[in-house]
Amino acid sequence: MKKLLIANRGEIAVRVIRAARELGIGTVAVYSPADAGSLHVRLADQAVALGASGAKESYLNIPKLLNAARETGADAVHPGYGFLAENAGFARAVLDDGLIFVGPRPEAIALMGAKDQARARVKEWNVPIVPGIEPGASLDDLQSFAQSVGYPVLLKAAFGGSGRGMRVVRSPDEMEARLSEAQREAAAAFSDGTVFLEKYIERPRHIEVQIFGDHTGQIVHFGERECSLQRRHQKLVEEAPAPNLHPKLRERVWQAAVSAAQSVEYIGAGTVEFIVQGGAGADDKFYFLEMNTRIQVEHPVTEEITGVDLVKLQLQVAAGKPLPFTQEDISFRGHSLEFRIYAEKPAEDFRPTTGTIRYLSRPFGPGIREDGWVEAGTAIPPYYDSLLAKFIVRGATRPEALARAQAALDEYLVEGVDTTLPFHRWVVRQSDFQRGAVDTGWIERSYGGQAPVGDMVGPLLLPQARSDQADHLHK
Ligand code: ADP
Repeated sequence: MKKLLIANRGEIAVRVIRAARELGIGTVAVYSPADAGSLHVRLADQAVALGASGAKESYLNIPKLLNAARETGADAVHPGYGFLAENAGFARAVLDDGLIFVGPRPEAIALMGAKDQARARVKEWNVPIVPGIEPGASLDDLQSFAQSVGYPVLLKAAFGGSGRGMRVVRSPDEMEARLSEAQREAAAAFSDGTVFLEKYIERPRHIEVQIFGDHTGQIVHFGERECSLQRRHQKLVEEAPAPNLHPKLRERVWQAAVSAAQSVEYIGAGTVEFIVQGGAGADDKFYFLEMNTRIQVEHPVTEEITGVDLVKLQLQVAAGKPLPFTQEDISFRGHSLEFRIYAEKPAEDFRPTTGTIRYLSRPFGPGIREDGWVEAGTAIPPYYDSLLAKFIVRGATRPEALARAQAALDEYLVEGVDTTLPFHRWVVRQSDFQRGAVDTGWIERSYGGQAPVGDMVGPLLLPQARSDQADHLHK
């Protein structure tokens, strides 16, 4: 691998470029007009413009991306996450052009991308799945399945992602309406309206396992991440290891993840997601949700407790190298938390927002890391996911990591756009969170966006002092 094209933007493009530079691999950025001044464009050795700013015209446009690779002589493509990262057709097109695709085989992407097929496959490998009924069932079948497992049940898009095409059904008379809603939403979002039905697990935790495979068939895991703090079924805070997880249950979850990866002869970085009921008991129940066949947003917390650079490892494995260690060599140290800083209004139901960042001041110090892309002056485009930065802390213990996060988050300052920072300052002070007693519905139940969230604590620097300082700097 000599020259890598990064088919993405934002923080993950920056993250991949940095890993490639460290390995002495040349980098090619691609960008839409909205991102012309972005950090990833400046950091790469070369950059290719992709035309219009809408994702379809740029980061989702396969012919344009392949042309950019051809024009620049790139020999490998990293898809990042989102956009085309889990598009088997893209992976196939990259391979057909004689390039390296930094990710698993297209067959593994396609199989795991179809949730119903993925469920069937991992079940053969004795991985527990949520009780469910496969796509194509009649309304009568859906009703009788729901009766047998008990309401509520959950309709899910087979090709879904980002929580879209999902509907909770709480009683028999709701089934028909929710079904057509889910089908319509799935068809619009994923060009395929296939939905299936699962038992709805009440107050579950979301726990996932980082796995890695290579061309020799070796598959290892890097432990689990707790991702239960979610709004709209989307993660906001993640940590590793998961708190209050019984050691025996943890072992079983790890093994199930490795089996799921083995079931598709997985190569590269992947994540197997589970929902867990409880977790403190050795025999508590857990179920396979899906496998994400790419690097995840929350991979840094795993890096922080294992000391392994997972993106560098992706590049090495994609270049054909075997994993440089076995499962026994992987060990865990300390505790890490990631806070996703999005351009959103937490007090208005986490509504995404845009704007231009006027001022930015970040905390630094022991155990503090940031993976981001925004700078003072960056305009947040409305076209894409609004993740600005991932603020990552590490401590020798969970209490140390939490105390560190609390102190540092108060210091973090973004001016010009609303962010999820006020929520993070609030959540690190909640006893449920401190005790590790949250589930995927906890934010919705506990944080109605109550005021005064923004003014309660933090930013340490007073607004007047800040503008005086800014004036001074500009003179
Ligand atoms: P997506 O691919 O759209 O992200 P997932 O299957 O990964 O969908 O589920 C996303 C989230 O939805 C999970 O993290 C969990 O919070 C919730 N969820 C999914 N399936 C169930 C279920 N059967 N019962 C309860 N919650 C669920």
